[in-house]
This record gives sequence, C-alpha cells and structure tokens, in this order.
Amino acid sequence: MAARRTPDFEAWETLVLQASRQGGAGVLGSLLAHWQEHARREVILCDCGEQMSSRGRRSKRLLTTLGAAPFARSFYQCQQCHQARFPDDERLDIINTTYSPGVRRLMARAGSQTQFEQAADDLLCYAGLKIEAREIERVAEDVGRQVEQWLCDQQEELLDRGVNAPPKLEPGAKFYVSFDGTGVPVRKSELAGRRGKQADGSARTREAKLGCVFTQIALDKEGYPQRDPDSTTYVGAIESSTLFGWRLYAEAMRRGLDQAKTVIALTDGARYNRTIVQTHFPDAIHIVDLFHAYEHLTAIARLLGGQEAKAPKAWRNLLEAGAISRLVRKAGKQLPTSAKSKKAMLKELHYFENNAFQMRYAEFRQLKLFVGSGVVEAGCRTVIGERLKQSGMRWSVRGANAIIALRCCLLSGRFEDFWAARAR
Ligand SMILES: [Zn+2]
Repeated sequence: MAARRTPDFEAWETLVLQASRQGGAGVLGSLLAHWQEHARREVILCDCGEQMSSRGRRSKRLLTTLGAAPFARSFYQCQQCHQARFPDDERLDIINTTYSPGVRRLMARAGSQTQFEQAADDLLCYAGLKIEAREIERVAEDVGRQVEQWLCDQQEELLDRGVNAPPKLEPGAKFYVSFDGTGVPVRKSELAGRRGKQADGSARTREAKLGCVFTQIALDKEGYPQRDPDSTTYVGAIESSTLFGWRLYAEAMRRGLDQAKTVIALTDGARYNRTIVQTHFPDAIHIVDLFHAYEHLTAIARLLGGQEAKAPKAWRNLLEAGAISRLVRKAGKQLPTSAKSKKAMLKELHYFENNAFQMRYAEFRQLKLFVGSGVVEAGCRTVIGERLKQSGMRWSVRGANAIIALRCCLLSGRFEDFWAARAR
C-alpha cells in the first residue's frame, strides 16, 4: 500500500471553496429562474397610467456573494410614452445595478472601513469577489446616501408623529447627549470663499459635526460614572448647526429622551453648541467639557508666560471646584501688554465667564456625572478620523457625508436594520 502522504490542506480548502461557490451560483440562478416561472402574473403599469407590455427577456450580469449568477428578466415598455421597466429587478432590489444586495452590503461595509483600494483587496481575500476599487467607492457612497435617506425619513416621521416604539430606559439611567466638531480634508472646490486656520487664512477642511447619545447607570470602584456598555449611538454630517441640531434631537428622541429623568448635554462650550442645547434640550444639565476648559486655561497661561507656560495649580484647583468668577479674577489680574495678546486674553476670559454656569464641576462630580466629553472625542476619532482623515485624502462633501452616514449606521449597530427595512 502506498504511504499516505500529508495533504496540502490549504489547497484542498481553496479548491473546495471555489467549487462550492461555482455550484452555489448555479443553484442561485436556477432558484431565480424557478421563481420567475412560477410568479403570479401581474399587470405592469407605467407612471403615465398606461398598461405596459412585455418585450421579451433581457439577460444581465449579476454578481452575487457566490459569484456571477445567470439572470434574465422580462423587459416591459409603455406603448404611449416608451418608458421601460424591469419589474423583477425592482422586486429583487437590483435596479440599475449588477451587484446583488448581499454583494452591495459587503462593498459598503468594506468601503466604510478602509480606503477603497484596501477594501478591494479585502473583498477578494475574504469573499473571493474581484471588484475594482472605483466600483467599491461608487457603491459604498451610493449605499451611504441610501442610509442617509433612510435616517432622514425616520427623523421626519419621528418629528411629525413621535416615537412609535420608544426603547425602555433602565430606571435611574442618566441620559447623555454630547457633540463636537472635527475637520475633514476636502477638495479645493468645496472651500471657495471659506476662511480657515491655515497661515494664509485659507481653509483645508470642512467641519464635520458628530453627536453621541449614551446612557450611564453604574459607577466604578472609585465612584466615577461608567458608560453603559454598547449604549452609544452616533449621528454626524458636514452640515449647518441648525440641521445638525435637529438630527441630534431626533436621535435622542429615538433613544428615549422622553422618558429620561436626568438628561445631560456635554459640549465644548462653543456658541453654536449652546444654541443647540437651548433649542433642543432645554431641560438638560449643560456641562462644558472639563478638558476643553483646561485647554483654554493653558491658552491664558501661554498668553502671559510664553509657549511653554502651564496653568498654575491654583487656577486648575479653582476650575475643578467650579469657582469660575474667582478663577477669572485671579487669572485676569494682569493683562498682556500687546494689543493683540490683550484681545486674545479677554476672549479667553469671556469664554470662562460665558460658561461659568456650565462649569460647576464640584457640583457635577457630587451628582456623579461625567464632566469630560471623552466619548465624543473618541467618537470623532473612530467614526470620522480613522476613515476620513488619513494622509493624502481629499473628499467631496457629498462623498464624505455618504461615508459618515454609513459609519454612524454601522457603529451604532443599525446596519442590519437598514437592510431589513430595504427588504421590506
Ligand atoms: Zn407611459
């Protein structure tokens, strides 16, 4: 008997997988043909109201998760206005596309995670699908816009008619909304007439706004608040703060804002943030993020003592105690001599004066509330930075918003809901 040789296990795996895919694609094609043969005959109407007539079958390339599957469907045309329709494409959610819903879902996910070239490699490696990077870009952005449309429809319905199935909040849960902005590098054409932070006054980026909604019940061993695991959902876009305010409000409503006994709004203290809080969350405890406040304190120290200066411990103690008027008196005792620095200094002091009520940190800590907006900062990195701010990237606002919508949906755990809603 011949000695049994060790098999090339990986080669077996590859071969069998290829064969299963090929066989599977054939089965899928037969299933589709069978469904078409036995489907109930329906009258197909044109938009103009006329009955459309069948003009025979047309085949099209269809890429499924199993590979290319044979597919042909009836072509209908209106005798009055010559409009055409492929009813089977409509039923299968493959209008004007050669990718099955399953493949589009993979393309959207892959394209939302990494650069499109990398996504093409990933799809080939993990799913055996050979698709060009450009196609992944196009389809991922397309799906992103559909996600955005789905979210907008929900938002509108919610604002018109209220939440139809509000989630149950745990008793005692504290309800947080937090939001911030981060710059997304965009193409020159998106920046016409905009002033920016570059040395010559030009801009390189547009601000994407990101909002988080999360809840908190537990405290850690040291008595600090702990975010409920998996409770964070995100919304975001490059858009005006007015539109963003409504977007965030709708998300908070969807998450159960109505039932929350304690609502906290955590922001960086910028003026548009305050307007959003006053407009949409008037009953919330508004807290200005302690770390942003530290930064402004450091800015004052630098105006007085140069680039290396740090804020004295006494100032930081006053800040953490929430003794803002004392802090302003102490830090503002001396003003820099140059007019420019003096102006900058007064601006910083006003920041503290304007936000004093939102900086009652000692009181907030006693209430066991978060005083730092770490969640939204991490969110800005994860949702936006990691995908949209890599070196060499230049986005169109339309493309960036599609990918932001996609990532918010995925990272909020709602991607499955989106596809389920489409299938309905
Ligand atoms: Zn017609």
